[in-house]
Amino acid sequence: MERPLDYSKCARPGCEEDEGRIDNYCSVYCRDIDELNIEIAQLDAKYNELIFSVANKYPDETRHETALRYIQEREQRVSGPSEVSECAL
Ligand SMILES: [Zn+2]
Repeated sequence: MERPLDYSKCARPGCEEDEGRIDNYCSVYCRDIDELNIEIAQLDAKYNELIFSVANKYPDETRHETALRYIQEREQRVSGPSEVSECAL
């Protein structure tokens, strides 16, 4: 994500520090926090893409559980019953 270079303010959204001394952040902690926030947002977007491709909502199942079941069912059809599938869960 590109941000405009502004050395007068910390680059982390929400941080009100006036100095952007380290890679435009006020401190290494602020930089690390922002990098982690960006990573979380990217993972969140990927996860939501997966979850919301589940069009049909089943009773007693979350979208996550439905997506997982779809993937497991598909994998079993492709590879056939395996030793793993015979294990009690
Ligand atoms: Zn900061």
